[in-house]
Amino acid sequence: MSRDAIFSAFEHAAEQPLESARAWKQAHGTPVVGSFPMHFPGELAHAAGCLPVILQESQEPITVGHGMIYPFYCGYTRSVVDQACKGDYDFLDAIMFGDHCVQVLGAADVVRAKLPNTRVHFYQLISSMSDPWSLGRARETFLLLREGLEEMIGHPIADDAIHASIQLFNQNRALLRRLYDLRRAGTANITAKQMQLAVKSSMVMDKASHNALLQQLLDELESSSDRQQRGVRVYLSGHFCQAPKLGVLDLIEDCGGIVVDDDLYHGTRYISTDVSEQGDPISALAEWYLARNLKVPCPTRVDQNADWENYLLKAMENSNAQGMIVLMAKFCEPHMYYYPEIKEAFERHNMPHLLIETEHELTALEGLRTRIESFLEVVKRQANAQARRVAA
Ligand code: SF4
Repeated sequence: MSRDAIFSAFEHAAEQPLESARAWKQAHGTPVVGSFPMHFPGELAHAAGCLPVILQESQEPITVGHGMIYPFYCGYTRSVVDQACKGDYDFLDAIMFGDHCVQVLGAADVVRAKLPNTRVHFYQLISSMSDPWSLGRARETFLLLREGLEEMIGHPIADDAIHASIQLFNQNRALLRRLYDLRRAGTANITAKQMQLAVKSSMVMDKASHNALLQQLLDELESSSDRQQRGVRVYLSGHFCQAPKLGVLDLIEDCGGIVVDDDLYHGTRYISTDVSEQGDPISALAEWYLARNLKVPCPTRVDQNADWENYLLKAMENSNAQGMIVLMAKFCEPHMYYYPEIKEAFERHNMPHLLIETEHELTALEGLRTRIESFLEVVKRQANAQARRVAA
């Protein structure tokens, strides 16, 4: 397949995730398990013979869901509730949630009430990551998840099956990280939109099929003489459960920015950490859960050993980024609580950054254009002044 055809396949899955999961179920007879984003180990659902699908924010306007959840909840939770109310999840065999914030709890309650005939399980992962009991508690939760899946399929899940799924998911993360490496190094011209489509489609597609497409894409990119376009090197931070709108990503690059790295959930956060392929697989998943918070700190978790603002400053340096754009989903409490620390650290280090608050309903792009253009101009001037100082 050509590069364009591969990205089209990614786009179809990423932008029509439920339609593509339904088609997969019809074609393969595989049960489909929907999950909330961020901390759910899809490996276990895959080992149970299911297609794990991370439920995505829909592009549709929120209508019937309005009356079921507070309007001051984030776009992701409101959209999930709206999709449940509209019957979009009726084909799912189960929905399994991992808790990561108060708004998710509220959304899960509505989904459970709206889908009385669907198996809806809620697993409460420990949010305190550095206590002596954190690992044991995470392991207990993943054991419960395994039991829930075994009850659903009617037989035990073998450790070997979990190991095989872990291996497949690790391959997927490694392939996506290679894509990131090419973009960071500037040896492939991959736009922010294409990068999101590659990662988001991985959240909803069969992993073996996704791996095959990624491998083809990498083979083509690594053998081509394609080079990244020039522009202000931008790092994108924020946006957890909902993918940033593609229009916003396009706008940043249209204004002269080149997105070189990110810590987005629909990006580096999702693929940062592999699961050990040795030993007890449930313990390995529990270790993964704690380790990934050290790799890319998450503001929904409490960890004495992780520091998001320092992580971001280091990540900017590693990717040679010149400025950071923070994308904050409106009403996302964990992000709102943490952002002042990032702002203070970036100001202290004289590192330019711009905060953009986004909404489910289409953000006014033209208003944003002026802000992004001004920001990129400031970054450019600062970088030129710095270069002159070094040369003097
Ligand atoms: S972490 Fe933020 S985006 Fe995710 S569900 Fe909670 S409030 Fe919404």
